[in-house]
Amino acid sequence: MIEITLLGTGSPIPDPNRAGPATLVRAAGQVFLVDCGRGVLQRAAAIGVGANGLSALLLTHLHSDHIGDLGDLLITRWITTFAPDPAPLPIIGPPGTAETVEATLRAFGHDIGYRVAHHADLNEPPAVDVYEYTEGPVWDRDGVTIRVAPTDHRPVAPTIGFRVDFGSASVVLSGDTVPCAGLDELASGADALVHTVIRKDIVGNIPQQRLQDVCDYHSSVEEAAATAARAGVGTLVMTHYVPALVPGQEEQWRARAAGEFGGRIELGDDLHRVEIGEPDD
Ligand SMILES: [Zn+2]
Ligand SMILES: [Zn+2]
Repeated sequence: MIEITLLGTGSPIPDPNRAGPATLVRAAGQVFLVDCGRGVLQRAAAIGVGANGLSALLLTHLHSDHIGDLGDLLITRWITTFAPDPAPLPIIGPPGTAETVEATLRAFGHDIGYRVAHHADLNEPPAVDVYEYTEGPVWDRDGVTIRVAPTDHRPVAPTIGFRVDFGSASVVLSGDTVPCAGLDELASGADALVHTVIRKDIVGNIPQQRLQDVCDYHSSVEEAAATAARAGVGTLVMTHYVPALVPGQEEQWRARAAGEFGGRIELGDDLHRVEIGEPDD
């Protein structure tokens, strides 16, 4: 079984009820955080997951809403890991990830210096292993495999989606993208597709060009659902709602997806959890 928890279903616009984009994927005791938007560690704490419990951080792209709490994650993991020689945190993302991580650690350079000077058992800065990929296999450990494929979020490039396989279960995470061949191929035959969505019927009619611009590099609810249908997945999990999903309007969003996709449709608030596959897998 693979367990998906929507830690943050928000967007770049601060929302009192929705953390920034972040999804937790758990399989075989391994814990993967996909993107680390605003408030991610507070949401993770709500389900008993700490920064020190992550097996890897997976980044779909380097937009601010998806990496907003990278610094908090790196520092908090560092100061809450009490092993003498903690294993580095694997961070898998598109090209540019190493530079972003390095710059983030540099931004926290004073903090790191204070803590190393103060604590006898903190001698090294946060340990990370950064891997940059645009396609191919990126993880193979104890039955869990992960591969990535390029997505299309241009002019943001490169961007990637992730596919996590364990036993007979498979989950694909799109990140931000318009419909594209890379995601179609990655999601083909998967059990579940976690897809970011925007309501182009709403955002496209806001009389503010900067907001309308958002439409041309994201998938609408209908487009995400059509991608799920083309790939033949069993479950579509929608997240990263733009504009924010208002309580009581869930069925309106669901109906738009159901027009394109006949499978199971999941959407909801932060901490919404979806199980994929049989419990024994
Ligand atoms: Zn985004
Ligand atoms: Zn984006």
